[in-house]
Amino acid sequence: MKKTGTNIDAKSAAPRKAFIKTYGCQMNVYDSERIENMLSKEGYEITASPEEADLTVLNTCHIREKAAEKVYSELGRLRIIQAKQGETGQAMKIAVAGCVAQAEGEEMLRRASNVDVVVGPQAYQDLPELLKQDRKNAVRQDFAADDKFEALKKASQRNAPVQPAAFLTIQEGCDKFCTFCVVPYTRGAEYSRPVADLLDEAQNLVARGAKDITLLGQNVNAYHGATDAGGTETLSGLLHQLAEIGGIERLRYTTSHPKDMDEQLIAAHRDIPQVMPYLHLPVQSGSDRVLKAMNRRHGRSLYFDIVAKLRDARPDLALSSDIIVGFPGETDADFQDTLDLVETVEYAQCYSFKYSPRAGTPGAEREDQVPEEVKSERLAVLQHILNAQQLAFNQSKVGTTQPVLFERLGKKPGQFIGRTPYMQAVHIDVPYLSDPSAVIGRILDCHIQHAGPNSLKGALLQKDLPDVA
Ligand code: SF4
Repeated sequence: MKKTGTNIDAKSAAPRKAFIKTYGCQMNVYDSERIENMLSKEGYEITASPEEADLTVLNTCHIREKAAEKVYSELGRLRIIQAKQGETGQAMKIAVAGCVAQAEGEEMLRRASNVDVVVGPQAYQDLPELLKQDRKNAVRQDFAADDKFEALKKASQRNAPVQPAAFLTIQEGCDKFCTFCVVPYTRGAEYSRPVADLLDEAQNLVARGAKDITLLGQNVNAYHGATDAGGTETLSGLLHQLAEIGGIERLRYTTSHPKDMDEQLIAAHRDIPQVMPYLHLPVQSGSDRVLKAMNRRHGRSLYFDIVAKLRDARPDLALSSDIIVGFPGETDADFQDTLDLVETVEYAQCYSFKYSPRAGTPGAEREDQVPEEVKSERLAVLQHILNAQQLAFNQSKVGTTQPVLFERLGKKPGQFIGRTPYMQAVHIDVPYLSDPSAVIGRILDCHIQHAGPNSLKGALLQKDLPDVA
């Protein structure tokens, strides 16, 4: 229990407690871990319960529909907790961080009187200082990503164990301005972290137990980080350098844009054994007309071309994607193009959504919005095909042996959960095992016995069965 810094309640001598709720993507999960480390250094103890918190941080995401309204609803629930706390003299502060904070800014202070701090995703490092500010000065929406990473690096707990599959943010922001997306407005321009910082952080992650590292970025394959020699490095070059670090057994990256999928990066899937045969490569639509309206900067033929080259480089590659149905102006023929693309590519996994307008984006201002019932019908047709593809991909692994990195215990006693190189979750039962470390954090060969739509079931090969004590 930490009892350092200024955050000790004088009466009880107990450390103040902070509750962090994370919404959205893996990048927010990564950021929340660093916020947690930063608050720990400030003397806060992290709690899983807002009822006992002196500070709640909502690390928000703006991607999902009605994201801001959901945050305001959460603030309403926190207001009830604050009222209850008030009966005992406790007073919880609330900080709203992340993309909704960036988008709402001072409006959030106006609409939610129980919010003390509003801090955008590139300014987390200022959170401790903002908590000491007067409320009217406690909004920070700067876009200085380099400051953020420098400060968060210093705050990170460089010795604490990490999960066997860890994340490493290498890039933030986006310059693409797809007409449906808020990211360029909430996360700012593309920024790539310097190579030396990333190699240092990756080495540190390995020393703390990571074997599988996923490189994160909103536009990860646009990475162009500075080198010590004064040049810049691409994502393929960075992957080659990371692969030289002993102990990194698996490398992945997400999220990629088709236009930034260059020849060297495609070749990295062939040439670097640690680069896993799984790639999330969003296409969004199969219609050239819709892709143009989305300002995606690629057509379907370029996408097909990249997929063919990738599969040439790595024939067993599992592809994943994001698809939006019902973008303004999408016709039945456009939607049919999307279905055709999906049937041709055959995804191992895919996220599909109905288009929903995001305030401030060009798509939201179009008058030719597609009726909700048409969007729902199209989504159901698309998901029927995608679900069948996902199941077929999973079933193709039944009877094979897969190297599985085990990450955690399952819900049932003796159950362990890990992932194949293709990102499929695998469940095994080893009920007699008394020491979970014989499995967790290790890559063990599994015979795959059964496939469902979302996971596989398998058994460890005899040679990998841990000794029974
Ligand atoms: S490339 Fe991705 S992050 Fe950038 S605007 Fe398009 S959808 Fe948003």
